[in-house]
Formats: sequence, C-alpha cells, structure tokens
Amino acid sequence: MLIDNHDRVINYVRLAVTDRCNLRCNYCMPEEGIAFSKRNDLLSISEMKRLCDILIGQGVDKIRLTGGEPFVRKNLMQLLEHLAKQEGLRELSITTNATLIGPYIKQLEDYGVNSINVSLDAIQPETFARITRRDYFETVHENLMRLIDSKMDVRVNFIVLEGQNEGDIYHMMEFQKAYPVRVRFLEEMPFNGGSRNFRKLKWNHKRILDHIREEYPGFEKLPAPLTSTSVNYKVQGHEGSFGIIPSFSRTFCGSCNRLRITATGDVITCLYGKPVTNLRRLLRSGLDETFVQEELISAVRSRARDGFEAQERFGSIFGSSMTSIGG
Ligand code: SAM
Ligand code: SF4
Repeated sequence: MLIDNHDRVINYVRLAVTDRCNLRCNYCMPEEGIAFSKRNDLLSISEMKRLCDILIGQGVDKIRLTGGEPFVRKNLMQLLEHLAKQEGLRELSITTNATLIGPYIKQLEDYGVNSINVSLDAIQPETFARITRRDYFETVHENLMRLIDSKMDVRVNFIVLEGQNEGDIYHMMEFQKAYPVRVRFLEEMPFNGGSRNFRKLKWNHKRILDHIREEYPGFEKLPAPLTSTSVNYKVQGHEGSFGIIPSFSRTFCGSCNRLRITATGDVITCLYGKPVTNLRRLLRSGLDETFVQEELISAVRSRARDGFEAQERFGSIFGSSMTSIGG
C-alpha cells in the first residue's frame, strides 16, 4: 500500500496518456500549442499497462485517464480493455473534452468505465469557440447528451474564467436543472503554458458560490467523501447537482489521496509542485518491477503536506500547461 509521510493512503492515480490535444483552450495552452514531448519519450501503451498493474498491486484502486486529450492517443481502447479486467480496480474513469469520444461510448460502457468527466466551459457555441479556439461545440454537446443517456456517471467541469464565461454560469445551472448531471465549477489556475496573463483570482470559490446563490438561493449541501475536492450542492427539484472546486485556493489538500503520472512517466506527488522522479527509464530498463515499486514508495514518502509547501519545496510549475502536467 502507498502511504505518504503524512499518513495519507494514496489509492488514486491520474495517468496522462498523451500530452497532445485537438483543442487549444486558452486557459490551458497557447494557440500554437506547447513543446510537445518527442514520441519516443511518451510511455507506450504496454508500458502504461505494466505501470498500472504495479500501481494496482500497491493498492491503487482508482485510475483516471487524462491528458492532453486521451482520445487522441492511438490504441487507448487497448489500455482501457486491460484496465477493465483488473479486479483490484474499483473505479475507472476518464477526463475528456468529449470531441472524439462518440464512437467509443458503447465500448466504454461495456468495459464498465464508471465515470466520465467532460470539460466544458461554455454552453453557448460562441463562448465555446472563443475559449477552445476550435469549432466543435455541436459535437461535444451531442456526445455529452449521449453520455448522459449512458450507464456511466457524467460530470461536467466548468472553469470560471474572468471576462470569458461568467455569462454561461447560469446557463450551466439550467443545464444541471434539466439533466441528471453533476456540474462542477472550478477556480482557474495559472497552468496555461503562458497563454494568458494570470492576475489575482477574481472568481474564487466563495465568489462563485455567492454568484450562484443570487439566482438559486435555496440549495443544500450534499454529503461527500473526505477525499473529495469538490463541495457539492443540490437545488431541490433539479435533476442534477452542482459543486465548487477550489483548485487555486487549495482547501482540500489535507485529505489528498492522489498521485499524477504524466505521459512521459514523470511522477507528480502534488499538482502544484514539479515532478519528483521519472519512471520511464526504469520501465524500459529490463529490471524487475520491484524497482518501480520502490521508486513509487520513495516518491510518496516525501510528499509535501499541501500545495503551498509543494510549490516551495519542489519548485512551482505555474506557467506550465495542464496538458503536460496531466490535468
Ligand atoms: N483534454 C482533457 C479535458 O480537457 O478534459 C483532459 C486534460 S485537461 C488538461 C484536464 C483538466 O484540466 C480539464 O478539466 C481542464 O479544464 C483542466 N485545466 C486545464 N488548464 C487549467 C487551468 N489553467 N486551470 C484550471 N483547470 C485547468
Ligand atoms: Fe486540450 Fe483539455 Fe487542455 Fe483544452 S483543457 S487544450 S481540451 S488538454
């Protein structure tokens, strides 16, 4: 079992399967993209399978595939098929921009994928095009509706972006009123690959909640697991629910149970600090898996207590892009 130096059990891994993406969300990366990793530096699908097996052997029972955009990764379904068979895995989920997921929805259901997080920061096509710099709104909307109709649990992640999508917040609330979907409003973080100046955060979690309260005054707090990063609420009579994630304010660090592994094998023990080691060489070395296990154990034994300490101790990664960190 992976237990960190603050006695937190690490049972949740977010694995980035690529750093590439078919969108160019302006809060994530510059228009021209970032310096993407060389293909040979990306873990292969079979290396990812091995790594996940090792992680599951260490007690990880929840894996989320992310990126970049997971569905631009060739042979992603082979990895999912493999993970779906792992008995030790209690939860398998994906974070996606939902542009390319359409043809795979049935297969994902058949594999028993539990939940899909769709990142959608706009419910009006023009806002979507301005933020993502691409014209895929109709496709995303159609896929989202199909996902809501599927067996999988669907969440929508909406980052509140000053001057860009405040006008869509109430539209998004209306969306969760009409459909059984969990919408989570997130604070923006300065992980944008230098694409925008990040001033002081205007839309922090308190302000987002106050803004929602003005229009929807009667909501109740929902119970949530200790490790949840969101505080969730429900307006009576609404089909769905909504939540707020204080991703920049970082009020949730105390119960953090997660580890990030990037598409090149970097191990990030806290989102706000630089990678602490890389597993690619070990995975390619021919050495047996105990070496990878030991490296993982030692990485989690020196975790920062919270995101502020990680930033100080390991060096801040603000200014990097979430697509290479693995969001
Ligand atoms: N391409 C997929 C997607 O967009 O869902 C997965 C990768 S994306 C990097 C993962 C998550 O990071 C998304 O929910 C995205 O909204 C979030 N993200 C990216 N840049 C961010 C930023 N500057 N602040 C907050 N969240 C960010
Ligand atoms: Fe791509 Fe996701 Fe980044 Fe948008 S947030 S550019 S969809 S990786």
